[in-house]
Amino acid sequence: MQANGNLKKYFTQYTWETARTLFEVRTNMVNLDCNFGRKESKCCICGDEESTEHIFECVGSRGSQLTQQTYLRIIQPGGPEFTKDKAEEITKEIRTIIKERKQIQDILNKYG
Ligand SMILES: [Zn+2]
Repeated sequence: MQANGNLKKYFTQYTWETARTLFEVRTNMVNLDCNFGRKESKCCICGDEESTEHIFECVGSRGSQLTQQTYLRIIQPGGPEFTKDKAEEITKEIRTIIKERKQIQDILNKYG
């Protein structure tokens, strides 16, 4: 997988947590059901098909820095080229949004 090639670069450029999140987006390893075997996962917010890319498009991410343009910059072939501060902001938003989705999903599973 070509995405692995630049892993070392992320770790020298960004903090461990930031590098890990960027790497997870690039390799579809973010903690969403759709990335872990449940192929037919629907977005808990809008009902569209869930995917790594979807969290950058969903209405649930509106108002954040998570846009399709951000996604494309993360997955671009040479690796992301954000400044350290920017990368930290963006990856923090990614982790927050994924955590929120898990919480919404848990509530829906229980009371939905
Ligand atoms: Zn959605």
